[in-house]
Amino acid sequence: MKQNETLLNTQSINNYDVEEIGDEHLFSSIETPMRPDAFALEDDVKIELIEKHFRHIMEIMGLDLTDDSLKGTPKRVAKMYIKEVFSGLDPKNKPKVALFDNKYKYDQMLVEKDISVFSNCEHHFVPIYGKAHIAYISSGKVIGLSKLNRIVEYFSKRPQVQERLTVQIANELKQALQTEDVAVVIDAKHMCVQSRGVRDAGSSTVTSYYGGKFEQEATRKEFLAYLGM
Ligand SMILES: [Zn+2]
Repeated sequence: MKQNETLLNTQSINNYDVEEIGDEHLFSSIETPMRPDAFALEDDVKIELIEKHFRHIMEIMGLDLTDDSLKGTPKRVAKMYIKEVFSGLDPKNKPKVALFDNKYKYDQMLVEKDISVFSNCEHHFVPIYGKAHIAYISSGKVIGLSKLNRIVEYFSKRPQVQERLTVQIANELKQALQTEDVAVVIDAKHMCVQSRGVRDAGSSTVTSYYGGKFEQEATRKEFLAYLGM
């Protein structure tokens, strides 16, 4: 374990026993809090509205939106929010996961490590970035390896807190793979901690979820050994 790492076992979050990390990074539930009318507007309408409001924010800060370099920014930000960095809010963008029979009868642990995570802190709207490591033990079904990356990507593309991201990925894996035997570790840096607030540029946050067989120490140790943790 490196210095300055915050180790949180997200298992406890299922009991809503939430620890405080850093700059009041608390969160309220495993589900991303969404309004009932979240998808009442088409994406194009959302982009238009965000563009208008983001322009207003920039103007309030005193920026001159007639400047060539700035004039396209509100539209650019609006498109980026809806089509890219927050596209994981919309279930229509959820990756389709096809299950295959585990023909090789491979009943050992499968580990996919160093999956890139690019997310945004829901408290500050600045990046969270790092790596996710996933493991599962097949129940007789397997999924394509790239789907593991896609699942991480989908849940990352939301305003997030790292603990919720960890549990959302784990829950999706359990459902997709039809097993409780999944593990997720995320090691990430938070720009809101690094570049502002306490300005701790060296710290990273580690969150973990261990389900089923991964609750046993030997299985968990094997997984962490693959990660060099
Ligand atoms: Zn933050």
